[in-house]
Amino acid sequence: MQTYRKPNGRLEGLEPYDPKYLPAECMMSANENPSNIDEDIQIQIRKRMKSLQFNRYPDPLANKLRTAIANANGLEKENILIGNGGDELLFNFALAWGGPGRKFLNVPPTFSVYENNALLTGTEVVNIPRKEDFSIDQEAVLERVAQGDIDYIIITSPNNPTGQLADEGFISTLLSSTDALVMVDEAYGEFSRTTMRPYLAMHKNLVLLRTFSKAFALAGVRLGYILAHEDVIREFIKVRQPYSVDAISQMVGLTVFENRARFSNDIADIIDGRDYLFGRLSEMEELTVFPSDSNFILVRVDDAHEMWEGLYKRGVLVRDFSHSAGLENCLRISVGTPEENEKLISAIQAVLKERRFGDGF
Ligand code: PMP
Repeated sequence: MQTYRKPNGRLEGLEPYDPKYLPAECMMSANENPSNIDEDIQIQIRKRMKSLQFNRYPDPLANKLRTAIANANGLEKENILIGNGGDELLFNFALAWGGPGRKFLNVPPTFSVYENNALLTGTEVVNIPRKEDFSIDQEAVLERVAQGDIDYIIITSPNNPTGQLADEGFISTLLSSTDALVMVDEAYGEFSRTTMRPYLAMHKNLVLLRTFSKAFALAGVRLGYILAHEDVIREFIKVRQPYSVDAISQMVGLTVFENRARFSNDIADIIDGRDYLFGRLSEMEELTVFPSDSNFILVRVDDAHEMWEGLYKRGVLVRDFSHSAGLENCLRISVGTPEENEKLISAIQAVLKERRFGDGF
């Protein structure tokens, strides 16, 4: 068989991103909204689907959705860019501000896609690890940024997978101390009810990332967006795939966005679920439970991988981070429906009981 020429050397040693998504009765691993969009909204979508022109290319910039998001945020559509999930915009960020000879400042443990994108684009990664409690080492970040050679930074707030918000005062200081582009990834912002949106007026180097995948229950559709100064948006547009956001996604996104007020009960339920889970998990002395401002909770437990297996055997899929740097023995649990939360608690209790007394009890 004819062999093939090796790909770009940057791919050597790069692991493809693996969401470790397996079928389970309780899907609590991917930080999705546990409930599908309302039947009512689904009916509106089906109606609009009937007049969709499948034969035509979509509007490359999804201007209807762009305008709706701009209006809701008191901005112009030129301040918004829609992407095929936040993931696409993260890749575009690395393409536009990274590259050979350029530097990305990362604060791990955090969303691993950032570092992968940097490696793919030949960008040097400058890691400033978080402290023991997963808070950002603010002094170290500011000190490193003061050297003046960082091109872009991503601060995730609330952070995935650790759960906590970044300090607003720190982000504000960071924005003023550098001309590096600072992305604040607010993928989980609806669950903390915070945003850095007001700072856009003062800082041309601020980019906010948001997604429809979490609070707005559209992980299956692939829609995310950024808010930024129009000059910054123009740079993102240069590197994007022209038709990355298809016509169906644009229409579904617009329909959901128009109905966004109806998600506030869901969001409140998820926040209540998180606080409930935090309380129940904190009662289990074998677990270290990290406080969360998001729709998931990180826990540390001895032999975490074995715990993951025990939960999966009982129908509950959570995310195993026990082999990730800085997250030894950590599992991330997405908040589910009240029933799923109860199943998770029972499953953890069962595994812990088995550990204490062995299988025979
Ligand atoms: N940012 C963070 C912190 C995330 O956790 C995710 C999804 N896991 C994303 C961005 C991207 O989400 P999506 O591509 O579904 O919009």
